[in-house]
Amino acid sequence: MQQPILNPLLIKKYNAPVPRYTSYPTVPFWQHDLNTDAWEKRFTEQFEQQNAVNGISIYVHLPFCESLCTYCGCNKKITQNHAVEDEYLQVIEKEWKMYRKRMNQTPVIREIHLGGGTPTFFSPLHLRQLVNTLVKGSIVHPYHEFSIEGHPNNTTRQHLDTLFSLGFRRISYGVQDLDPRVQHIINREQPFENVQRATDQARAAGFSSVNFDLIYGLPLQTKQSIEHTIQQVIQLKPDRIAFYSYAHVPWTSKGQRLFNESDLPSPELKLQLYMTGKEMLSGSGYCDIGMDHFALPHDELYTAMQKGNLHRNFMGYTTHQTGLLLGLGVSAISDLGNAFAQNDKTLHNYYEQIKEGRFAVKRGYFLSEEDLAFKQYIKDIACKGETYFYPAHLPLLKQYCFPQLQQPVEDGLVEYDERQLHVTDIGHYFIRNICSAFDLHLQRNLSSLPNQVFSKAV
Ligand code: SF4
Repeated sequence: MQQPILNPLLIKKYNAPVPRYTSYPTVPFWQHDLNTDAWEKRFTEQFEQQNAVNGISIYVHLPFCESLCTYCGCNKKITQNHAVEDEYLQVIEKEWKMYRKRMNQTPVIREIHLGGGTPTFFSPLHLRQLVNTLVKGSIVHPYHEFSIEGHPNNTTRQHLDTLFSLGFRRISYGVQDLDPRVQHIINREQPFENVQRATDQARAAGFSSVNFDLIYGLPLQTKQSIEHTIQQVIQLKPDRIAFYSYAHVPWTSKGQRLFNESDLPSPELKLQLYMTGKEMLSGSGYCDIGMDHFALPHDELYTAMQKGNLHRNFMGYTTHQTGLLLGLGVSAISDLGNAFAQNDKTLHNYYEQIKEGRFAVKRGYFLSEEDLAFKQYIKDIACKGETYFYPAHLPLLKQYCFPQLQQPVEDGLVEYDERQLHVTDIGHYFIRNICSAFDLHLQRNLSSLPNQVFSKAV
């Protein structure tokens, strides 16, 4: 695929704080203290509608890590005590059973994703126990997709063989950066040999898709260091790459206070790091899927994009759409299609509630008809690069959205009329900005939002 030439000035211009749109409305607009009874009722209704049609997706958050990577913004618990695995799995099992009681038919499991934290902190035996708990008494869809996030330092061949035997075919490794100085300052020392071994072993075990997460904007990164990292990554040919912008949020992620801010690249250098990585990946045959994701042309993510079958949820882009994603574990997020909820973020509170037989959902959101329609516009733009408007929404579109599109139209990013919108080839790189024009919650609250809510587009 021919990649358009990007003007750095354009990137600089649109490098504003914007959501990643893994949900709409985005998390800052959710309600605190969600009504648990209303959530349970909505879960039962949506499960009944979605399960028989598409099956369900399950996300399990496995929060433990042996050491703290200082850049990390995830919900994690640092410990070297592996005795915690048992209790955590017992609570997950209880939570799953609580949901199972609200299911009036046998669940059809289409997707399982184990995320973290470090899922490979858990022993292969425990991961087997977890997956068996979920699939026991359930129907596993013939076209299921099971995936896991692995740490290159502690993913063993035994983990991979166990997961493969359970139906896992996708693994995502947190590579982040391969420069030893950068790895040292972010406290994530994982030599290239470990990444190579983990990748080779995943392929040897039979995994058909290996994803790497990379980050640009980390302390001590330079143009040369990122070039070297990307060169090494390209050697290993991961099927998919997520090339994320480092979000510096020391007010919420305390670990980020452990390195000196003067070691962070300047905004100009960060932009250069992104452009360098992007150009190298494009030059090596990777196709830009949108919002930081790249894939080789044989990968399903790319073919799904070509066919207009891409979807987006909390795990980023996916090739399936089940309509119901159930999140289990501390801080896990569920998406029922017309409602979101996130479990309590502290392990102690999560344990306490589940052990007492109460759902641990804490904050969330029930979508209105208007939310559902604008959620669809945003999803269409993010996944297909085009959308069609309902005539009934014209007053809202004219009041909030079209004025936001004036500059992107002048810059050649997007074309629209009162019936439809089309993202241009260049506009594809600014999908988050274009989506934000249709974020009515954001547009209605622009003046009252605090500065530090969303990370910058680059
Ligand atoms: S980056 Fe991953 S491994 Fe490191 S602390 Fe965060 S969740 Fe744990």
